[in-house]
Amino acid sequence: MHRRQFTFALGAAGLAAVAAPLRAATRPGKIDVIVLGAGVAGLNAAWTLEQEGLRVLVLEGRQRVGGRVHTLFDLPGYPEMGFNSMGDGYGRGIGWAKRTGLELVEVGQRYRMGKEQGLWLGGKPIPRDQWAASPLNPFPKDYRAFMPWEASSVAVAKHNRLTDYTTWLEPSARPLDISLNAFLTAQGFSQDAIRLANDVSPFHGTTAHDVSALMLEFGVGFVKNQLSAGPNSWSIKGGNERLPKAMAATLKGDILLGKEVVAIDSRADVAEVRCADGSVYQAPRVICSLPFSTLRNVHVTPGFTPLQSRAVASLPYQRLSIAFITASAPFWDADGHSPGMWTDSILGSVTPQRYGSSVDQISGFVVQARGQLSDVWDRLGPQTALARIVAKLEEMRPAAKGKLKAHRMFSWTQEYFNAGDWAYFGPGQIADFVPTMAQPSGRVHFCGEHTATAARGLEAALESAERAAVEVLGL
Ligand SMILES: Cc1cc2nc3c(=O)[nH]c(=O)nc-3n(C[C@H](O)[C@H](O)[C@H](O)COP(=O)(O)OP(=O)(O)OC[C@H]3O[C@@H](n4cnc5c(N)ncnc54)[C@H](O)[C@@H]3O)c2cc1C
Repeated sequence: MHRRQFTFALGAAGLAAVAAPLRAATRPGKIDVIVLGAGVAGLNAAWTLEQEGLRVLVLEGRQRVGGRVHTLFDLPGYPEMGFNSMGDGYGRGIGWAKRTGLELVEVGQRYRMGKEQGLWLGGKPIPRDQWAASPLNPFPKDYRAFMPWEASSVAVAKHNRLTDYTTWLEPSARPLDISLNAFLTAQGFSQDAIRLANDVSPFHGTTAHDVSALMLEFGVGFVKNQLSAGPNSWSIKGGNERLPKAMAATLKGDILLGKEVVAIDSRADVAEVRCADGSVYQAPRVICSLPFSTLRNVHVTPGFTPLQSRAVASLPYQRLSIAFITASAPFWDADGHSPGMWTDSILGSVTPQRYGSSVDQISGFVVQARGQLSDVWDRLGPQTALARIVAKLEEMRPAAKGKLKAHRMFSWTQEYFNAGDWAYFGPGQIADFVPTMAQPSGRVHFCGEHTATAARGLEAALESAERAAVEVLGL
């Protein structure tokens, strides 16, 4: 990769804050850059620097690479607990799959196959064609025909105040950084309607009060842009975690696992990283890909600017718990309802996985609890939560009785090295945090999905790594 291939502009302030650019092989036999975290952001940063001839050491707290790309390889159909799929516009993600020779598989069709997920409120199914007239439907007139999982995103897309989604960080967008609750209220949603459209199963935040509408409007623009590149959703054949494993295998430098970083000290001449096991590593620069949800437990000296400190301490991360269950017989054929469910019960949402011997065969169900429901599952603990999920499903759908097996519960909120799923912004936080939260601090540079400004998800993590590498190289 040639330096000219980096196409985005750097903040001049960011460069001014750090030491002189690093050049390749400046310190024979020594490490040039320590990368913290072996998720896709850390791995992409390490690879990018190695392409420029720098020697890189990666420190990872877990005993595996991949972070939020995590596949349960021991369960049927290799269920994904983390990253699921990428769109046709994921140039970096698709590029990495090609570079490492991994086969991509189109998974969008597998999710669209069969009947669409069914709505279950108060334990009873409500077919789509009866929803608009249902007495349980609290939506305003223009939204009554939309299912609860559609109404909020339809409203954000229909009334998106960003004519160009790439302007979401410009000062002109600052007044738009209101809560989703305020945004939906302005569209005629009552509090009951907002609760059903968002709070029962939120992708961001716990309630619509604590998520920024501006962030969601940017997200809608990003997805639209993805769709303009093509309609496909791609996963890695055999499990997504094969991608970070393959990325790690391309690195020349060491990746040390089980290295929980507890302190980063940026001095005049060197940066020093200390781990929980007492080991200490030094290099002229550090790239830190740790989510702020875990960075806030790391002792960083000389410390951040006041706004950065607030961002590190308070950037919220989504609460999400996932269960994986299988069925020994197709109970959905027996009762005639869709295998997929969206509920207001302890079941959360139930999504069939079609990774059996043929593309239409259901290999299991991913059950998701988001927001407050995630906390409920976590408080119950895996064993009790799984038992209650099975009991509720059998109660709502008697045809499932005796046919279900609960395999695993996985909580991103409880994961020591993530403490939450993806980062999101609360109302007002975009203008407060984004301009400075990823700026270099002494010899330390920051990347990770939470620091990206142009993309979302996996592509965001990869994007952020390029920016951090460019900073280190002083390009
Ligand atoms: C359930 C779920 C579904 C998703 N679905 C999609 C999707 O369909 N499409 C999409 O584009 N994106 C999706 N994503 C998002 C995508 O997976 C992430 O954006 C991306 O993987 C984040 O990469 P990262 O490197 O920034 O962070 P991470 O993967 O979290 O990497 C950070 C690394 O730092 C390590 N670490 C943390 N603290 C320490 C410490 N103190 N010391 C040492 N190491 C530490 C962690 O172990 C981890 O390996 C999903 C995520 C989840 C959880």
